[in-house]
Amino acid sequence: MKKALLEFSPEELRQALIGLGESAFRAKQVYRWLTACVPFAEMRNLPASLRTKLAGIYTEGYPAVEARLASKDGTLKYLLRLGDGNVIEAVLMRYRYGHTLCISTQVGCPMACTFCASGLGGLVRNLTRGELLGQVLRVNAEQGAGRNITNIVLMGTGEPLLNYENVVSFLRQIHAAQSLGIALRNISLSTCGIVPGIDALAEEGLPVTLCLSLHSAIEEKRRLLMPVENTYPLHEAVAAMRRYSEKTGRRIIYEYILIEGFNMSGEDIDALVRLTRGQRCHVNLIPLNAALGSYKTPGKKQIYEFAAELEKKGVSASVRRTLGEDIEGACGQLRAHFAGKLRE
Ligand code: SAH
Repeated sequence: MKKALLEFSPEELRQALIGLGESAFRAKQVYRWLTACVPFAEMRNLPASLRTKLAGIYTEGYPAVEARLASKDGTLKYLLRLGDGNVIEAVLMRYRYGHTLCISTQVGCPMACTFCASGLGGLVRNLTRGELLGQVLRVNAEQGAGRNITNIVLMGTGEPLLNYENVVSFLRQIHAAQSLGIALRNISLSTCGIVPGIDALAEEGLPVTLCLSLHSAIEEKRRLLMPVENTYPLHEAVAAMRRYSEKTGRRIIYEYILIEGFNMSGEDIDALVRLTRGQRCHVNLIPLNAALGSYKTPGKKQIYEFAAELEKKGVSASVRRTLGEDIEGACGQLRAHFAGKLRE
């Protein structure tokens, strides 16, 4: 199989072009085209002979748009096909202040959280650095001329800290890819609580916003939702989040899915207040999206009462807008649906 140029770092690209007898400035030109998601045949400032040569040896490595769903609220969901035929999701949320792209980090997911569609088929494989980058480049290019994506969240399918090397390498490259202009402080990474990964990330000098999927501040309850609790119990994950915050100076985010009749009682609030005490943190409340199994999404009134109660007790909290509900916006739903269709 041909290698994808998107997998190359700028230095590796330079070496590859020099190896083809080209001068180093050609690598810069190719890199710029790659960033704009342009196919070899349309890399206009390259000699036709070089374009043909490149296409003979390499692929660009961009994912193809398999499907694109537009929500009434402006959210765009992309189903992207990778070089080996696997499909992944990326979701573009359009806000007044900018566009946030949610990307996947794995094909499938090994974590098996009971409320999440991403884990239904288990893990297929990690995404490569080029495939992480390809989601950003493809969706950005789809929006037309100019810079469109301002924020990236690693909150799509997969556990980013179990694909550590590629994710960190991707973050470094995004940081270096001047033409994209996305600052690391505009990137958030969400983890279910892989403690060694959190500690390693704190040492990388990459100031991304770290989010922990909490969903319950009571360990026995959290275990019912998230099997990861058996490997890295909550108190260890929270201690690692504190260390991350101290090391990087960044405020951390706890994500809390609201499930009616499960994690919204006074006892749950008190546990959350105790857990967050003394931390520079914010709690993102996420109304459960498209319930799996018997879980229920609470009503608006209950949601806002829960948020108000937290605020009253001194916890910084906000309710995340639910976007893209009409296009299967929740993690892995569209991919799961699509995979189901393929099997039919
Ligand atoms: N594995 C990482 C990142 C992917 S999940 C993690 O666990 O954080 C991204 C976020 O979406 C997590 O907070 C996850 O718990 C949440 N999520 C998954 N399924 C959901 C659903 N049905 N409704 C609302 N949020 C969901």
